Amino acid sequence: MIKRNFQRLSLLFVLPLLFFSACRPTVKAQPKIQMSTERITPIIPKYVEVVPPTIDDSVWDTSHLDISHIDRTRKLIAFTFDDAPKGSLENILAVFAAFNESNPDCKASATLFCNGNLIDNDSAHSLQTALALGLELGNHGYSHLDMTKLTAEEVRAEIDDTDELLARVDGKEKHLFRAPYGRVDEAVKATVSVPVLDWTIDTLDWTGASAEDIYQTVFSQKLSGSIVLMHDGYPHTVDALKRLLPDLKAEGYQAVSVSQLSKAHACPLKKGSVYIRARKSEAVK
Ligand SMILES: [Zn+2]
Repeated sequence: MIKRNFQRLSLLFVLPLLFFSACRPTVKAQPKIQMSTERITPIIPKYVEVVPPTIDDSVWDTSHLDISHIDRTRKLIAFTFDDAPKGSLENILAVFAAFNESNPDCKASATLFCNGNLIDNDSAHSLQTALALGLELGNHGYSHLDMTKLTAEEVRAEIDDTDELLARVDGKEKHLFRAPYGRVDEAVKATVSVPVLDWTIDTLDWTGASAEDIYQTVFSQKLSGSIVLMHDGYPHTVDALKRLLPDLKAEGYQAVSVSQLSKAHACPLKKGSVYIRARKSEAVK
């Protein structure tokens, strides 16, 4: 009896084992892995070295400025108009437009140094026309104050508020700076984060000088790299300009903006420095 029971129990254990072993997948004998004794040359991915462009933050950036219209064989002279946008801007722009239309080989440009408190919807429209003609916008402070009499904070506000208004017209965050009355000291230079532009030739047009006087002042003092100081708001300035553009062309000159002059003459303008001209670099033939 005990023996029979033992046989039954054995069958209970053995039969499932047989069944499972029959269902088990056959494991094939794996080939033995042989370790190579040869030296393995590692595969190193080739990297292209990416060098970030070195931007000299102390220099006024003209890298995106198009100067393809500038004839490199010509002498260059930069016209600047302070206290813009004022009453005679439309007439100044009309002179540039007419000259450029009849002289596509020698297109003229200039820099308009603007006061923030003169920029409203109407005058901003004139500034847009100026941009379309290829002129440059510069900063002349918000309310035409003597910067040497202001605190650093006040100087910054005068400049930043004007930059903001100009940016709505030309989309640029910063603009070249011309101090009202040309008044700059070390404290102002240290506060201003852009180049400061003085001038080579002062036309004194704001004193009531005649068109003839203005014309003669520019014509007698002109040199390549000169920066001419004029103002928006005086009809005699416009009359002088009408004669100056064609006569300067005839003398081998092309009228340009200050930034164009700096780039074409390879004469970098440094932030916080004051410039009265931008002569051609020795490196430029
Ligand atoms: Zn001024």
